[in-house]
Amino acid sequence: MFREILIRLERLDAPVRDEQAKVIRDLQSKCEVIKSGHYALQDGDRELIAEALKCVLYFLEFQLSEPPEKMLEPELLQKILDFINGRIEKDEAANQLLELWLKQNWPQWDIDAEDAPKEFAGTDTCPQCQNQYLVVEQVDKPYCFWCRDEVPVEYSDTCYEVKVVGGVCCPN
Ligand SMILES: [Zn+2]
Ligand SMILES: [Zn+2]
Repeated sequence: MFREILIRLERLDAPVRDEQAKVIRDLQSKCEVIKSGHYALQDGDRELIAEALKCVLYFLEFQLSEPPEKMLEPELLQKILDFINGRIEKDEAANQLLELWLKQNWPQWDIDAEDAPKEFAGTDTCPQCQNQYLVVEQVDKPYCFWCRDEVPVEYSDTCYEVKVVGGVCCPN
């Protein structure tokens, strides 16, 4: 089906760039493997899907002149963008690292029963990556499980929000 689309586009004088045509052909091959029932997830599949999604967005924007925001539901578009930039995978990885750390510190924590150990003070939003994987309390040095790094932050004396050490916090 993708190959026919390529041919039709050529005829419509809306040729697809070479690298996009390659993505479409690769996707077609992948679809055939899936249909044959012998599919197993392979390295590179995630990238292939991400490339194919990029093609779709590019096609909407520059060949149909329809901004993706107009054609797609905001949540769906956000999911596509998250997938393209690897956010979902990074999110899972950060979550796994955090859970591992929680389990090491609170071995009695039942991971299936609760989101986090009762004793855990919780995470904050990291000023570097804007993700909620920053542990400020109960650690020697604040650490972000998304950045996988120590982040120099402290709680503001005025608003009690996390801020970069020595930096200014919210305007009030
Ligand atoms: Zn971070
Ligand atoms: Zn503040």
